[in-house]
Amino acid sequence: MPVTIIKSDKRAREKPCLRCEYSLRKIDSTHCPECGLSVWLSLSNNDGLEWSRAEWLRRMALGLGVMTVAQGFGMIPYALLLIAMFGGQASSGAAFFGWVSVAKICAAVYLIAYHIGLFIVTGSERRYPDRLKGWRIGSWVVGGIAMLFSLLLLVWATSPRGFWLLHTAMNFVVLASALVTLGYLRLLAKRIPNSTLAKICAWMMLVPVLPFLKVFPIFGLYIIMQSLWLAEILPVIYLPLSAVLFVWFAVLFRRAATSAEKSWAAETAITR
Ligand SMILES: [Zn+2]
Repeated sequence: MPVTIIKSDKRAREKPCLRCEYSLRKIDSTHCPECGLSVWLSLSNNDGLEWSRAEWLRRMALGLGVMTVAQGFGMIPYALLLIAMFGGQASSGAAFFGWVSVAKICAAVYLIAYHIGLFIVTGSERRYPDRLKGWRIGSWVVGGIAMLFSLLLLVWATSPRGFWLLHTAMNFVVLASALVTLGYLRLLAKRIPNSTLAKICAWMMLVPVLPFLKVFPIFGLYIIMQSLWLAEILPVIYLPLSAVLFVWFAVLFRRAATSAEKSWAAETAITR
């Protein structure tokens, strides 16, 4: 007969206070001696957003606001490129590169704004264990690459050279950003908890991947021809869709923050 040994999690006691990060390892009291927050709250595995740090939730809502504005701005370079590529064929080469220069500058501004927003959203929660760490580091790496790439766009804004290279690289940067953003938000959706929103994030992670079927046609040989058009149109669909998603998350985060403030206040000892 198998014997089940129930071991207490040694590391559980190493969890610091959720509010002030005071070490609770050698504490016998029911409330944090530093800030008065219930020790139970810090040591429990309940990481629901309504029981999480309110200022962190509000900061994420702010970052999402920045990203929403950026997504709106991000429509401009794609719209300009569509004009340049499909409407501008009759116009002269000079006019074409005029459009492309403006598109490059807009794309650079877009990338900078979006990743500042993403940096705010992925600020550390200061919770142990930190399950968001992987996505946060991923976001920062992608953000760093995007910042370098936006500088490149600005430097080459007036040059007619390297257009297709930049265009392809831009698609890769936007894809990587979308994936880390949605991956991060998906984990947070589970903590709201909102399974519908988590599923939407998972499905939307597929949308930015679609254009790459033409680059890596292994998965969709027969749709290569159709996806040539699709690839240029997709950002125009993806950008407003994700903007709606960001607003949705921001509203839920703000609501959770209000609720979390009440929860924490109720779990704080009045006398210390
Ligand atoms: Zn404390």
